[in-house]
Order: sequence, then structure tokens, then C-alpha cells
Amino acid sequence: MSLYPREIVEAIKDRSDIVDLIGTYVSLKRAGSNYNGLCPFHSEKTPSFTVFPDNQSFFCFGCEAGGDAFTFIMRTENLDYKGAIEFLAKRSGVDLPTDGREERHGVSRKRVFEMNLIAARFWRECLFDPHIGKAGMDYLTEKRGLPLSIIRRFGIGYAPNDFGALTAVLRKNGFADEEMKEAFLCGISQKSGRAFDMFRDRVMFPVIDNTGNVIAFSGRDVGGQDNRKYVNSSDTPAFQKRRNLFALNFAKNHCADQLILCEGNIDVVSLHAAGFENAVASLGTALTDEQARILSKYTKQVILAYDSDEAGQRAAHRAMGIFAKVGLDVRILQMQGAKDPDEYIKKFGAEKFRQLVKNSRTGFEFKLQSVLTRHDLSIPDEKIKAAAELCSIISRVYSSAEREVYVHAVAERLSLSEDSLRKDVEGAIRRNAKAGKQQESQQARLSAMGIRDKVNPETAGNIRAAAAEEAILGLLLLYGEHRKAVATGQVPLTRESFVTAFHRNVFTVIMTLEESDGGFDFALLGEYFTVEEMGRLARLEQARRALTDNGTSVLRAAAETLAEAKESYAAKEAPPVDSIQMILAGKRKRLKEDSDDK
Ligand SMILES: [Zn+2]
Repeated sequence: MSLYPREIVEAIKDRSDIVDLIGTYVSLKRAGSNYNGLCPFHSEKTPSFTVFPDNQSFFCFGCEAGGDAFTFIMRTENLDYKGAIEFLAKRSGVDLPTDGREERHGVSRKRVFEMNLIAARFWRECLFDPHIGKAGMDYLTEKRGLPLSIIRRFGIGYAPNDFGALTAVLRKNGFADEEMKEAFLCGISQKSGRAFDMFRDRVMFPVIDNTGNVIAFSGRDVGGQDNRKYVNSSDTPAFQKRRNLFALNFAKNHCADQLILCEGNIDVVSLHAAGFENAVASLGTALTDEQARILSKYTKQVILAYDSDEAGQRAAHRAMGIFAKVGLDVRILQMQGAKDPDEYIKKFGAEKFRQLVKNSRTGFEFKLQSVLTRHDLSIPDEKIKAAAELCSIISRVYSSAEREVYVHAVAERLSLSEDSLRKDVEGAIRRNAKAGKQQESQQARLSAMGIRDKVNPETAGNIRAAAAEEAILGLLLLYGEHRKAVATGQVPLTRESFVTAFHRNVFTVIMTLEESDGGFDFALLGEYFTVEEMGRLARLEQARRALTDNGTSVLRAAAETLAEAKESYAAKEAPPVDSIQMILAGKRKRLKEDSDDK
């Protein structure tokens, strides 16, 4: 469907930080958690151009230019979407595939998947062989206390302590040594030039993607002969460590509300065995931006269950910063009396662990810390700035009880009165709401005056429906939970619910991407919409972000308003149903008309 594989588009976007990128074109100043500058797309004296690092987007409140890194480059470098991808790929050092397939030294992903599947089956047979697999089975069942059912479900195996066992099996199946090396299943001896098994005397955890392919392995040493506790597949044509997580294929259906991130695979397997099917682990690396972004598509909240030692806590602190960038709510689990979740559950049981999850500390403490370190509190001006930033952060928290807790914490840290802080927070909430409403009503006024909305010309005749549609699309652009609610039919919305053609198209594209492999990503919209249309999408997103209440009830209310509005226009002809192909054709037509205009 896409011009380039979505992994590539996402990798480019992940490596193109929007503040860095736009900063090379526009001089930006920090304003709270965002950046402001003079808009490069219209002439102005006071900055109305804003860059939002947390969702990697920009928007100009003056001329409505907006979007993501790709849209920005399309506008400034005057390129199409494909050209912008290529421009940013070069800038961020991502190699673009020439034929749309990832291939290295002539070994395709497909060949690697085939080898991995054979390896997984072979190692599983070894584990269940009472003679060959004894060391591995003892480790799993006796030392770790795992039931056979969970060992089977995860497809765990055992790589025997033998230099040529797997290599021989793969050769018999027609694979060359060079291919096995590319798949990280064997190494080639420098001295003899002979192939040898990469994993030996290890319990093997297959890493499986969402479509069921075995993409890599993680091997845990059991014999104690190797001082490396874990060996993980390095990057292969079928696997990028920094973009994958262990057990996400199992957890993805159980983690809509909350997900538990651990350091080790064995913690994940123990947690699943104890009934926590929402546990995953990063693969032997520190958490990456890409992994955080992937998790943000599946869940609202991440509980960090890292090791309780100093290194683990440092890693947790670092991970919080990464999750904060992608806008995920993060909590830290404080385990006392055990070094990791596996040990904790063995010592104290699953129920106690459930309590820990419930009492985990919020990410606010982390944000508080980061604001405090940026300001010198001995200078009164700086203290006021810090307080203002924190009040603005608190004003975006939905729950008033939670806000109270934060107000208390900030008052204590800055030695300010709770009352005055509370007033500032309330002021910020009112401002947020007003900004959102103003934008909505400004748009309605313009429409009512019959001023032609170039992006969505049907707005003028359908003000009520168009406003409801904008609210719905803003919510769907922002929140995965709302897209899920629509995809599963919990909120009754279909293409036919929409009155205006532009909004119907946007809805169609969002939901088609949502239901595709890998899900929705703003970065993929550029293929379907022009830069002007992308600006509108950014505005819809920003309008929602400025509001405090973006829950499911708001989505439902907007859907009802839309249904009522539509009924009152019932006399009108039913709109045609647009397919993705028609939308793409429409984009081409609009681009052509634009260039004819010039
Ligand atoms: Zn502008």
C-alpha cells in the first residue's frame, strides 16, 4: 500500500526530531513544554508558529500550516510526500530499499523466517528430549518453577552444548552457511572458516512478531560456562532489535489499559505464568525511542518493573524520560525484598505483586524533577517560571483528585502556598478550554459567514455536522483507545456516519491504517492528503489537545450530535462511499488543479 515500507517511514520519523529539524529553518524559543517561532509560511511579527516535541508535530495558529516532519519538509523544500521521505532519509542516515524489500547480502526476510522456524522447532525438540534437554528443562521447571503449559505457549527451547547441532539441521534443509550467518544462527570461525552454532547450552526464547513469524531469539545461559547471561540475535534482514519487544505478540491483546515492562525475558514468562498477560521486555538493550513509540500504540499506561538494584533504577529513570516524550503515562514499581519481578512473585505471590502494580508511583514525580533541575530556584524569577510550567502540566491532568496530589507536592518542593498554586492551575485549565472553544467558534463563525473553507468546502452548508466531525477526527487522530473503540464497534461510527466528503475521507484513511499491520501513525497520512489538508489535520489534533476532557464520553457525544445533524439533513442525497483508491485519485486530482491554478 505504501510507497516505502512503513517500518522505514517510521524509522525515518523516529530519527528526525522535529525540534532539531525545524530549528535549522526557524529560530525557536522554548515556551513551557513546546517551542515558538515566527512562521516560515506566512509573514508575521509575533510568533504564532508552535512546535510540539511530545507528539512531534507543528502548527501555526496564524495560517493553519501544520503536520509532522514530512509535512514540514514538503512545504519548506517544496517536495511531494515521497520526496520528503527521501530528503529526511538522507538527513537521518536511513537507507531506503531500492526495490521495496529489505535484503542484505542476498538473504531475504523470508529465508530468515524459514531458518528461524526450523531452529525454533529443533530447539523445542531438544528441550523436551529427556537426555539432551535435561539442563534446560531443570533450569525452567526446577529453578524457575515454570509450568510446562507456559513453556509450550512461549515455544521455549534448548540449544544443546554442541558446536554443530543446528548448523547440521539447517544445512540438511538446504541453507548455506553464509545465510545462517546473516540470520545470526551461526558464526564462521576465522581460523578454520567453518560454521559453528551461535547459541549453545542456552534456554532459547523465540521472539515472535504480530503476524506469527519467528523474527529472532534470546538465549539465556544455563551452564554458567559463558559469562554472558543473555545472548540476543543482533540485527538481521528480518529483525531490528531497537524496534521489537519480547512477548508483545502475546501481550498486545491484554494491554489496552496498562502494560508491564520488564528487563528480562524470564520475568516476562514468570509474569504471564502468574496471570499477568500484559508483560513485555525490551530485548537486551536499554529502551529505545522506537520501542516507546510502538508501545504507545497499544497501551495508555506503562508500569516499569525493572530490577530493584541501582542499575535497574537508573534504567527506569531513563525510560521514564523516553515514555514522557511519546506522551505515555508511566509508573514505577517499587519492589522491596526481591531483585526482580520473577523473584518477587516466587517469594510473595501474585496477589502481592498485583498490589504493587496498583500502588506504583506516577510519572509526575519524574516531570517535577525535570522542571526543577532546569530552573535555579534561588532566583525568584526562575522559581515563578518553574511554578508556571508545573501548573500547566497539572492543568492537563484529567482527574481532579490527582491534580490535588500534585498541587500538594509542588507546593512542598517550591515552598509556595497550595492555595495560590491551585488558583494558577484553575486559571490554566480555563485558558486551555477557552483556547479550544475559541478555535472551534472562530471556525464556526467563518463558516457561518459563508467564507469558503478551501480544505473542506462542505463545512459552510453543514456547520453542526462538520463541527461534530472535527471533534471526532481530532479524538481519533490523538488517541489509540478511541480508534480501537471505533474499530471494535463500541462507538458506532462508520464512513456512512459522516456528512462532509473531506471528513469522511479522513475517517476512512485513519481507520484503514488502524486496521492494517502495525496500526495508525500520523507519519503515514502524507501519502493520502495534500499539505493544506495535513495542516487541517494538525489543527484538529491541536484543538483537541488544548482541551482537558478527551474521554470516550466526549467521542460518544460527538457521534450522537453528528447522527442527529445528519438526520436533519436527511432530505439530502446519501453520500458516496469512498475507497482508499478513490481518495488517492482525489489527491492527485487536487494537486493537478492546484498546479493548473498557478
Ligand atoms: Zn503561519
